[in-house]
Amino acid sequence: MRSHSVAAEGGTAAVLYPDEGDSIESHIWDTIKGSDFLADQDAVELFVKSAPEEIRLLERWGMPWSRRADGRIAQRPFGGHEFPRATFASDRVGFHEMQTLYGILQSCRNVEFHHEWFATSILHRHGIFQGITAVELKTGNFVLVRAKAGIIATGGAGRVYGFTTYGYHSTADGHYLAYRAGLALKDMEFIQFHPTGLVPRGILVTEASRGEGGFLVNKDGERFMKRYAPSKMELAPRDVVSRSEISEINEGRGIEGPDRIDCVGLDLRHLGKEKILERLPQIREMTMKFLGIDPVDEIIPVEPAAHYAMGGIHTDISGATEIRGLWAAGETASVSVHGANRLGANSTSLCLVYGRIAGKEATDYVNDGHDGGELSKAQALSEESRVYDDTLHGSGSENPYEIRDRLQRIMDKHAYVFRTSEGLKTALREVRQLKEEAYRRVTDKAKEYNTNLEHVLELDSLLETAEVMLVSALARQESRGAHARLDYPKRDDANWLKHTVARKTADLPSIDYVPVKITKYLPTERRY
Ligand SMILES: Cc1cc2nc3c(=O)[nH]c(=O)nc-3n(C[C@H](O)[C@H](O)[C@H](O)COP(=O)(O)OP(=O)(O)OC[C@H]3O[C@@H](n4cnc5c(N)ncnc54)[C@H](O)[C@@H]3O)c2cc1C
Repeated sequence: MRSHSVAAEGGTAAVLYPDEGDSIESHIWDTIKGSDFLADQDAVELFVKSAPEEIRLLERWGMPWSRRADGRIAQRPFGGHEFPRATFASDRVGFHEMQTLYGILQSCRNVEFHHEWFATSILHRHGIFQGITAVELKTGNFVLVRAKAGIIATGGAGRVYGFTTYGYHSTADGHYLAYRAGLALKDMEFIQFHPTGLVPRGILVTEASRGEGGFLVNKDGERFMKRYAPSKMELAPRDVVSRSEISEINEGRGIEGPDRIDCVGLDLRHLGKEKILERLPQIREMTMKFLGIDPVDEIIPVEPAAHYAMGGIHTDISGATEIRGLWAAGETASVSVHGANRLGANSTSLCLVYGRIAGKEATDYVNDGHDGGELSKAQALSEESRVYDDTLHGSGSENPYEIRDRLQRIMDKHAYVFRTSEGLKTALREVRQLKEEAYRRVTDKAKEYNTNLEHVLELDSLLETAEVMLVSALARQESRGAHARLDYPKRDDANWLKHTVARKTADLPSIDYVPVKITKYLPTERRY
């Protein structure tokens, strides 16, 4: 229940009202266009068709969806969606979804929870999944888990950045577990920057604030989105809005925010107190607590903050990885439905859809009698030695928290909304230098709840994943979705309509490409 999903605020996308004008076809098209045509279209079709049933299932399990005056489930507009299809429960969507799912699991007698177990590696032999290793944080014991099937669902990679909306657990562990086990990481150059990260910390101000009618303004009070996306304005997709904000700031029309940070303004004042209290109570509470700003009367300072990784562990349309018996679901996976840019509210619904698909696939696999066999002792011992000898008793001289801060500053500076070859190369050189530094230093030697050990292990994940992001970003010489290269400002379908797949080698990640699956939606120019 401390997962990142609890923090999801604004909505879960699904087509609920074909009778009122929405359609499966429209959601599919919005998602593919939003992805800048990098999404695999067969996966998008499956996702969109499956999402409505997940909303109804949650409802049957007790999810308190907000209602309309006529009693039907309420939906609100979200960026890049042609129809208001973000299903919500006030501005605490993820909290209520997680409560509902956790509650229902409590009633399943065959579900066992292992809270506070930290997975450290995937065990497999000849490409067949056998289990994982983990540290039980409560006792500090090293645990071998033999399993017939597994699903990686470890969430996002956002803590590679400092200015981010992510929770502290989003440290790319699953990405790194998979990468070390020989699996490919796909499309890691595509990081979504959410247009409304609260300045100066990056805490999320939900897109629902614009869905409910909020304006983005520059220092002259002008709704600048009219210059960049005249038909969708503030509800253009996030990549478009983030680039527009940075362009305003770069051209001298930004607002001076807290800590003298250049930003833009989110204006909710015209919505009125009643609507803000009913629809966006958490946003008001947060801006008042963190900045002393009441959005009923004042403009909120915001700028793009790292928010989502479109890429992740390479899977097929059923969520299967390249290791037999192992699936990936949620943000850590790249199916790919989001392509180069995710639409808001499509992540929590993708978690629901692929949670079910991967769960069913894994269950069927086990019921078919598959079994990875006895664990390799040598593999387990070598992992135990990595965790305890090399890390807990490591002889590092550098402070790992300073290394993490330096990594985040590098990524914030060079792998942000606009990128250049020069900046990415500098970042790669600096990240590789950080990897060389002796950061395996755990000062807390306690066995129980050694979060210091956990943080140092997480630093491995962050550094390795950042390297993959940078190498993938350098290689992609075009601008598509969230990957905007100043030196290659145009999308280039002739050469780059393909997914990046990165694999671990002894040196830099190797980069290869796999085709995008096109069913019937041909790439066109993206205008909003
Ligand atoms: C502030 C914020 C608001 C958002 N709001 C929305 C929204 O309104 N709608 C929407 O569609 N999307 C939203 N998103 C995106 C969405 O919330 C996430 O993409 C989604 O919740 C990710 O879910 P997940 O299950 O993949 O990962 P998580 O919910 O992050 O769960 C991952 C779990 O894996 C555990 N874990 C990690 N590493 C290890 C390890 N080594 N060993 C064991 N366990 C581990 C974590 O502790 C955690 O419990 C939002 C994102 C942010 C940052």
